[in-house]
Amino acid sequence: MRSFVHESAAVRVVFGAGTLAALAEEAARLGLDRLLVVSSPGQRTLAERAAAILGPRAAAVHAGAVMHVPRESVGPALDAASAVGADGYVAIGGGSAIGLAKALARATGRPIIAVPTTYAGSEMTPIWGQTEGGVKATGRDERVRPRAVIYDPELTVSLPPRVAGPSGINALAHCVEALYAFDASPITMLIAEEGIRALAAGLPAVIAEPESVEARGRALYGAWLAGSALASATLGLHHKLCHTLGGSFNLPHAEVHTVILPHAAAYNAPAAPEALARAARALGAPSAPAGIFDLAVALGAPTSLAALGMVEADLDRAAELATRSPYPNPAPLTREGIRRLMDDAFHGRRPDQADTELRARS
Ligand code: NAD
Repeated sequence: MRSFVHESAAVRVVFGAGTLAALAEEAARLGLDRLLVVSSPGQRTLAERAAAILGPRAAAVHAGAVMHVPRESVGPALDAASAVGADGYVAIGGGSAIGLAKALARATGRPIIAVPTTYAGSEMTPIWGQTEGGVKATGRDERVRPRAVIYDPELTVSLPPRVAGPSGINALAHCVEALYAFDASPITMLIAEEGIRALAAGLPAVIAEPESVEARGRALYGAWLAGSALASATLGLHHKLCHTLGGSFNLPHAEVHTVILPHAAAYNAPAAPEALARAARALGAPSAPAGIFDLAVALGAPTSLAALGMVEADLDRAAELATRSPYPNPAPLTREGIRRLMDDAFHGRRPDQADTELRARS
């Protein structure tokens, strides 16, 4: 058995239908009584509901979060926090709201309580991101990892299928890459495999029965596990490619993950056969790359970069950007290999077993 290091962070997780009601109690447990509630503009009503539950512990609502935390969105949020003397933040919504709260926590050292309503997984990680001039910088800082997370599946019932599908595959990507990460511990791998199982069962159920809190709960449970896997493993090619495509070509985050994942998995399959076999087992599919592709199709999610508005002329530059600096990945990164991957992703070709085996032999 190989050696490993596993570190567990002290994050309190409260999971269950209706648990938003416990928000004031969670704030009291952390000794916070002047909280700034942060959300995207679309989730303002939800943020106001959270503030009402907090009662006197809510200092104000700031509904100014924007995807990828542009620098311009951080200043007004900091002003809002200092205007009310906030002693902490409640981030309610998707990865954008949590991202803005993380920018505040990084600047002030104040804690976050997160109430995620998508499957992005940011609430479990110490990873922050900020975009400036079209370039997204990311880093790790323990101060930005939320101290408490409330997962209430009832809040995700309003997540439309066209958002839920890609957001769920975004979570699946954390699990798949954690399975082959060089620094994944056996516990992280168990979490990742169970995350894939929960998402593969939960997401189709969410699409089939959008009103079912039971189905929403299964998917959200998978998202929690995926966020935990993301927090404790160094991810490779897939996340690097999505980061490049999102940042440099302004493509939507979760949808890019959905399109790229089958192809990144196929690229790494020959170099990480055991990890991909575990992923396939959890998906209940003969092959993980094709199984992920078929899941995206079943969810009605996009499967090609062309459908996301990328232009074919940019594929060369994307491949060049993605191979510019080295990073850990099971399969060696070659410019031609990544260019071929980008071509498959651009056209939305279904990876098949034969292709994967052919690559393994070449
Ligand atoms: P998002 O927060 O922008 O949400 C996606 C869409 O869902 C938005 O239109 C939002 O208004 C809508 N939405 C959210 N909750 C809803 C609800 N309950 N009902 C109806 N609609 C709802 O995007 P996201 O996909 O959640 O997160 C993506 C962002 O998070 C990216 O910036 C990404 O880089 C970041 N992220 C960071 C980490 C990390 O560890 N730092 C991890 C994953 C993602």
